Amino acid sequence: MNALSLGLAASGTRLAFSLLGQLSGQRLSVLTFHRVHARPDALFPGEPDADRFDQLMRLVARSFHVLSLSRAAEHLAQASLPPRSLVLTFDDGYADNVEVALPILQRHGLTASFFVSSGFLDGGRMWNDSVIECLRASTRSGLDLGELGVATAVPLQTLEQRQQAVQLLLPQIKYLNLEQREVALARLQSLCGVATLPKDLMMSTAQLRSLHKAGMEIGGHTVSHPILTTLDGEQAEREIALGRERLQELIDQPVQVFAYPNGKPGQDYDASHVALVRRLGFRAAVSTAAGAAGAGADLFQLPRYTPWAKGLPLWAARLALNQRRRRYDMAVAA
Ligand SMILES: [Zn+2]
Repeated sequence: MNALSLGLAASGTRLAFSLLGQLSGQRLSVLTFHRVHARPDALFPGEPDADRFDQLMRLVARSFHVLSLSRAAEHLAQASLPPRSLVLTFDDGYADNVEVALPILQRHGLTASFFVSSGFLDGGRMWNDSVIECLRASTRSGLDLGELGVATAVPLQTLEQRQQAVQLLLPQIKYLNLEQREVALARLQSLCGVATLPKDLMMSTAQLRSLHKAGMEIGGHTVSHPILTTLDGEQAEREIALGRERLQELIDQPVQVFAYPNGKPGQDYDASHVALVRRLGFRAAVSTAAGAAGAGADLFQLPRYTPWAKGLPLWAARLALNQRRRRYDMAVAA
């Protein structure tokens, strides 16, 4: 995108969000990212690479007032949210957030909040990445995944077929309990004939510290990223509290914000988890319900929304439409 069209997209975005703010009160847009790849990765078609992320951040820097989540929550609580407020969030703690995203954020003078699952630091791996990396590395031309509840003949000859296999497997494994998931992943790895999987996908503790030293906010995201509704109360409290304690030890600062793993209200967390996060002393938490928080929002279930569109003007238009969404349908009653 050239400088002129970026300038037009940015001034259009500023105008649209200023008008929306005047019409229906200031609302907070919160974007979610997971990985930012150094180069395009065909197995993650929805995730940005460095060039795409740079374009988005250029637009964001010119169009929005970007805040950390804790600062935005303070403004919401005091009904003093600046016009065109936006928060950038990153979930899970991927190493590429530090290696790829951080220099781009710094180049554009932006701040962001990073929700890190403490159990994966220093060589851990999220289960979904185990699935993806197994299917990436397998030299098999096809797999029988019948015993994993998927099709008996899954071809792996083309990139598209590998993508499809990932899309078939992820929902199948997502809602298994921890033990069943381990078994399924071990079985998948052996079916794929893959001896070792990457151990450098997530941040090291040194990277986490450097992210914090660079002025970025660190938030809790449990120890091992369980779906909280599958745990009993004691287990859920341990996951949330111990994850936070570990991060606090590492950055030597209080951790004040939290993101519910997976984050769908009523499905991935419920009112008891909202109450728990509040009782543990966090100041704010985010879900993955779409919408934009305005005055009177529940600070412990702030909605997030990331538009998907190739062109920046459409991306910005979708983000503007999100400002009009009725988010309260999506929050659990706390
Ligand atoms: Zn997550």
